[in-house]
Amino acid sequence: MSKQYVFSFEEGDGKNKHLLGGKGANLCEMTQFGLNVPPGFVISTEACLEYQDIHALPAGLLDTVRQYVGQLEQKTGKGFGSAAGPLLVSVRSGSAMSMPGMMDTILNLGLNQETLQGLITQSGDERFGYDAYRRFIQLFGKIALGVPDALFDAAFEDIKRQAGVKADVGLNAEHLKEASRRFLDVVREHTGKPFPEDVYTQLEYAVKAVFDSWSGKRAMDYRREFRITPAMANGTAVNIVTMVFGNMGNDCATGVGFTRNPGTGENEMFGEYLVNAQGEDVVAGIRTPKPVLEMQQEMPGLYRQLVELRDKLEGHYQEVQDYEYTIEKGVLYCLQTRNGKMNAAAMVRSSVEMFREGLISKEQALLRVNPDQLEQLLHPGLDPKHKQTPLAQGLPASPGAASGRCVFDADQAVILGRSGTKVILVREETKPEDIHGFFASEGVLTSRGGKTSHAAVVARGMGKACVAGAEGIQVDARARSAKIGDVVLREGDIITIDGSSGNVYLGEIPTIKPEFSQELRTLLDWADETATLKVMANADTPDTARVAQEYGAMGIGLCRTERMFNDVERLPIVVEMILAHNLEERQAALDKLLPIQREDFKEIFAIMAPRPVTVRLLDPPMHEFLPSEHQLEDELRALEQYLLSVRGRTAACNAMRLDNPGGITEDQVAAIIARKNRMLRKVRELYEVNPMLGHRGVRLGITYPEIYDMQIRAILEAVADCQQQGIPVLAEIMVPQVITSQELEFIYRLVNKSQQDIESRLGLKLSFKFGSMVETVRACTRAGELAKIAEFFSFGTNDLTQAAFSFSREDAENKFLPLYTDHGILQDNPFEVLDVKGVGVLMRMAVEQGRETNPGLKVGICGEQGGHPASINFCQKIGINYVSCSAPRVPIARLAAAQAKLKEK
Ligand code: ADP
Ligand code: MG
Ligand code: MG
Repeated sequence: MSKQYVFSFEEGDGKNKHLLGGKGANLCEMTQFGLNVPPGFVISTEACLEYQDIHALPAGLLDTVRQYVGQLEQKTGKGFGSAAGPLLVSVRSGSAMSMPGMMDTILNLGLNQETLQGLITQSGDERFGYDAYRRFIQLFGKIALGVPDALFDAAFEDIKRQAGVKADVGLNAEHLKEASRRFLDVVREHTGKPFPEDVYTQLEYAVKAVFDSWSGKRAMDYRREFRITPAMANGTAVNIVTMVFGNMGNDCATGVGFTRNPGTGENEMFGEYLVNAQGEDVVAGIRTPKPVLEMQQEMPGLYRQLVELRDKLEGHYQEVQDYEYTIEKGVLYCLQTRNGKMNAAAMVRSSVEMFREGLISKEQALLRVNPDQLEQLLHPGLDPKHKQTPLAQGLPASPGAASGRCVFDADQAVILGRSGTKVILVREETKPEDIHGFFASEGVLTSRGGKTSHAAVVARGMGKACVAGAEGIQVDARARSAKIGDVVLREGDIITIDGSSGNVYLGEIPTIKPEFSQELRTLLDWADETATLKVMANADTPDTARVAQEYGAMGIGLCRTERMFNDVERLPIVVEMILAHNLEERQAALDKLLPIQREDFKEIFAIMAPRPVTVRLLDPPMHEFLPSEHQLEDELRALEQYLLSVRGRTAACNAMRLDNPGGITEDQVAAIIARKNRMLRKVRELYEVNPMLGHRGVRLGITYPEIYDMQIRAILEAVADCQQQGIPVLAEIMVPQVITSQELEFIYRLVNKSQQDIESRLGLKLSFKFGSMVETVRACTRAGELAKIAEFFSFGTNDLTQAAFSFSREDAENKFLPLYTDHGILQDNPFEVLDVKGVGVLMRMAVEQGRETNPGLKVGICGEQGGHPASINFCQKIGINYVSCSAPRVPIARLAAAQAKLKEK
């Protein structure tokens, strides 16, 4: 065997997660920097890949494993398979990417009839011996021999019933001996073979089972869901670890902890433990564990050791750790550590505090928060004004509030979730096989298990609300109902859970947007100090401008004037303008729009001052402001009918010599019909085969200069007003859909004329900028010419993507794009994630050419991709000055911009 497949904890490189898996690498690292880790060794991921390849363990591997077991025997003074002082081990999976609970671990391996007696003699505790044995038979039976868990569970329930106890702590040695005997029978019956007695055979089976679990359905589903590619997580390592026992009496315990509170980020002891129990009991939710603070009273000496362990872990890793430990007869062992998965609020708070504590640098503080995760902070909480009393209470396991219909199994959650129903998954406890139900649910509620139970950990990772261990709820999954006191919840009933308080309510409770925390403000301030890319918002109204400002936008990168037209009071004037027979009629409508637009601009400029506001001149084709041909035809048909009935009524009134009492007259209806007919003619006249590529943008400005002229005047008059009031405005006029510099020159002449009019009328000098959208392929190839007139460029990446791909967003997303991404033909939807390889090449070219003729050219990007961290990295690389995105994405983009700068180095 040329390649080294096996590494002792003293030997392995703690940084090499790729080779040793996350768990194995950290076990090596912890051993090497002096934590008390039970002796063990790692079989590498390369051995796993080889195994997957040749469907057998690599040649010689088992011999090497024997040598390393020999080392364990020396270190522990015990013997593997020896009745005198038996060495037991755990066989644990662990790949490079953390996949909590997705693969298998076998505990207490090395037990057989003989070693069991040894264990009992050695510990002097028969109950303990049989407890370990029955656990081993079940786990090994399930994982290595494929015996269904339910068979063991049924036998065990039987024994508990006969013994008249609820929890397994109530069972005595005789009961557990009986359990072991029945479990051995279960194995023999199910597999047709006796349980393997030879300890090396056990080890071989276990190693293979862990390797197999890598390609098991559970693990594959998980990787697909989280887009973990084979290259990112290439196989699992196997960790063979000397067993230590948390279940040998009341000076023994097992627990899990976070070095800080993962729900809030607060720097405090956090975790749960169980006295006299084995590790899996905490996570499985079989007994509800105690909060770690109780250990301070119960086992003060050990508590101090635990605090010390926590400090060493954070000090070493400079990152919040999620760790597992076991206490055997007063000695604390660390069994696992990994970077803690925390929600966004906790990440932000711990970043700021860890910097202040001197644990990490400001750069580390900024880099450790995933920008996309900040989205969680924009998650709703319960409206504090609500007066409902909770129906039940559990542990606040993952913050955020959520309402939805109860479902009692993961499959049903998926079925209802798919049809758009909001659901809350309600379970006694969750297991890894429920994972698909989490994705489909708004939140998760369990009646058993603690803050580190499976449900809590998974929900926190996904940023979903979770209330765990609500013990007042009796869940009956089979009957699809739950009982809380005398209230019965059935599938489909609406409940609200608050993962921040642990409360559960009947019915739906209104939620509110959370406030920005002080820590988030601090972190984002640091981000702004670090970043060179500016982050603007897309905002079209004074209200959205105010929101943008709250999110910390450094200006408005895109203000779409047409959004201002779409207002019930304004639309009729816009329609009037479109229907105008001649220039005069059109000018009359425009004269009405001018003051409206001017006031809007003034307000937005004033809100954002002294930050820039980029106003885009009218972009969409005119028919977008008119009803569809179809709708008009329907309306006309109905109106003609109505006219007939009005005529009939008028005739009847005349015959009876009555006045037409107050009703609408024939003439009025006829006038409406005439107007609709005019609209219909106009709609037909404006019809375009391909509106996206049609009469829009600057082309409108050239065919109807009076429209652009009105908008330009409104902008410049608003600037003048602000300047006169001493408001420091920074207005920018932006022309859409440009393909040639001649278009820009044409529009610039309009700008120039207005500017001169206003300046001479008011005797002041207007300050503003004039620039171009770059959203056609030709604009990219002619950027050098455009930049002679334009003072700035703004990439319209939606249109530019459509143009570069030659498909429209709507058609693509509705018809073939999902299939393209599923098949990996395209990695991402290019309308969500900027296509750096294709569209990006055009952008880079435009930036370079533009700056060649105009070195001071300011360049930005507006369009949805602007807020995406990956796009922001690219923008940083090609020297873009700002990104502009929707207001709620601004904080995400601010952090991403800082990270892009830091990663540049
Ligand atoms: P997972 O990856 O699902 O967390 P682990 O390999 O960490 O699985 O094992 C599950 C549990 O078994 C852990 O909580 C740990 O406490 C316990 N365990 C694993 N190895 C040992 C050991 N050598 N001695 C005692 N307990 C162990
Ligand atoms: Mg673990
Ligand atoms: Mg566009």
